[in-house]
Amino acid sequence: MNQPKIIAISQEDRRLHGCPYCSDAGYQVLSGNSIDSALFCQGCEQTYVVVKDGAEDSVAYFRGRKIKIQPHPNKPKPRKKRATKPRKV
Ligand SMILES: [Zn+2]
Repeated sequence: MNQPKIIAISQEDRRLHGCPYCSDAGYQVLSGNSIDSALFCQGCEQTYVVVKDGAEDSVAYFRGRKIKIQPHPNKPKPRKKRATKPRKV
């Protein structure tokens, strides 16, 4: 099966960075439920999925397909946080 890949991002990432493909802020809601919404970007005309705040750790569904939620592509990769241990003197 060769279906186009759908990107799922968090609502917060969409607010901050816009469309995951082109960063456009304009969209139309195609469908939605209490956890995720399928949005149609008015900039690049691609569809992506936005997951409500607080549900970022769950899995989004789009037309029956499971989509893993990913960080927004424009977002700088989170630096690996190391537990800040006090340095031994
Ligand atoms: Zn777009």
